[in-house]
Amino acid sequence: KSARARTLVAPVIVSSDNVQYSEDEIISKYSYTDTKVTIGEDGTVTAFPQNSVFEFKTRRRVSRLGLMMVGLGGNNGTTVAAAMYAKKHSLEWQTRTGTHVSNYKGSLTQCGTFRVGTSSEDGTDVYSPLSSLVPMVNPDDMPVSGWDISGRNLADAMDSAQVLEPDLRNKLRPFVDKVVPLPAAFDTDFIADNQLPRADNLIPGQKQEQLEQLRRDIRNFKETQGLDEVVVIWTANSERYSKEIEGVNDTSENLLKAIQGNHPEVSPSTLYAVASILEGAPYVNGSPQNTLVPGCVKLAEELQVFICGDDFKSGQTKMKSVLVDYLIGCGVKVKTMVTYNHLGNNDMYQLTDQVMWKPKSAAKSKVIEDLVEANEVLYPNNEKPDHVVVVKYVPFLGDSKRDVSEYTSETFLDSHYTMIMHNECLDSALCAPLIIDLAVLCELFQRIRVKVQGSDEFKSMHPVLSALGFFMKIPKTAGEEPIVNALNRQRACIENLVKALVGLPAESHLLLPTKCQ
Ligand code: NAD
Repeated sequence: KSARARTLVAPVIVSSDNVQYSEDEIISKYSYTDTKVTIGEDGTVTAFPQNSVFEFKTRRRVSRLGLMMVGLGGNNGTTVAAAMYAKKHSLEWQTRTGTHVSNYKGSLTQCGTFRVGTSSEDGTDVYSPLSSLVPMVNPDDMPVSGWDISGRNLADAMDSAQVLEPDLRNKLRPFVDKVVPLPAAFDTDFIADNQLPRADNLIPGQKQEQLEQLRRDIRNFKETQGLDEVVVIWTANSERYSKEIEGVNDTSENLLKAIQGNHPEVSPSTLYAVASILEGAPYVNGSPQNTLVPGCVKLAEELQVFICGDDFKSGQTKMKSVLVDYLIGCGVKVKTMVTYNHLGNNDMYQLTDQVMWKPKSAAKSKVIEDLVEANEVLYPNNEKPDHVVVVKYVPFLGDSKRDVSEYTSETFLDSHYTMIMHNECLDSALCAPLIIDLAVLCELFQRIRVKVQGSDEFKSMHPVLSALGFFMKIPKTAGEEPIVNALNRQRACIENLVKALVGLPAESHLLLPTKCQ
């Protein structure tokens, strides 16, 4: 009997009336089905399935893309850079378990596959990577740059991060020992005091001068590397929340004025975001602070530049958004979620400051809200599970994150169902592939134009890139768009969107013909 599934990595060409391939573009028609629901005065619910047609145009030529990371010299920044240099130069390294070859495991775009369809030959499921359907940037070809408050070169920064194996670090050293992060925009008020000793690489001057320097940095990187596009990703330390004040950061105009006036509530991360938006570079906020204040979102909307936030969803939170989806999805009532992290990297050290911990704590606590709200059979009257999140700094463990979690639920006839889980992984190995995916997908979204039914104009997608919610703890959505936390729904969104670009239907998971006689 033949295998039930196989993976093909060759480009997939869709043959359908819904798609045309020209030399420059892929033009597709996608029939989007949703159901509108009305609730009558007597409580009757009526559902109306509705179809609308979206047309997509996707440029086939991939931009020459550069990645700029804020926090380049940190654990994530150096790990991303290491993987990209190692892969580009096909580095191999030894550990006690043998020889390892550079790779991007953990990346959805580089190692994930999805079901294209059923083989007409033998009925097997055919899987492909997303990049088989539409061209995507190869991260090996993506120059890396960025800023850091620490002026250590990347080779020394990799040594201090203690993430990579020593043999790999030695092999990378000649490629990165001259690479020094650009001086950073900095404000001691937004970061824990324990980070001040590393702050030796700063842009002088006030916020307006810092903003102008950041803009010049993006332009210089683009020019010197001959790039079409730059994506900027914040992977620096978690800042404190900035206060959202009317007249200061509520509109784009006020925010730009507040920067000119060196207002104390404009955070360094907002400066990076504003600089990116003004330079037309998509900006991703990988930490939980409110970088994307209303004025910043409005600026992105006015200038039609992508923004994406907030806080990478990489480890325990990702697991939570799978496990709770599974339990509630099976009709099991999760009653308590008690989760601990302990690790000893610099990020955790800075989170020992209670002010900096606040946004992280809020982000970690919010990740299941949509799952609970979606089931009032189990959770009537706004009931919620008890959710406790604890993190501890344990220096000896460095980047090795330990996650212990206990979930207690009520199942049949209220019997208790308790699950205890222990995960261990390098924190940066969990996060680095997400940074690569975010850059690759931002570049793809930059090449898409979409026309909604009833309009005669192709426009870019909404500047708030909620389609990348898969990578985010608290996905930032546009306007009234509900937040989706469930990981499977988030993954399906990316998969189905890419399929729509080539006129393929969304995955229904029905496999109907084989289920019928
Ligand atoms: P890290 O402390 O190793 O690196 C952060 C870097 O940012 C440091 O090198 C620091 O010097 C630099 N920095 C601080 N303020 C800066 C500024 N204003 N401008 C430029 N550089 C600045 O931390 P990390 O482990 O690499 O994590 C980075 C961020 O990613 C953290 O905010 C963390 O909360 C977030 N995050 C990480 C994970 C994960 O690693 N699994 C998951 C979710 C979110």
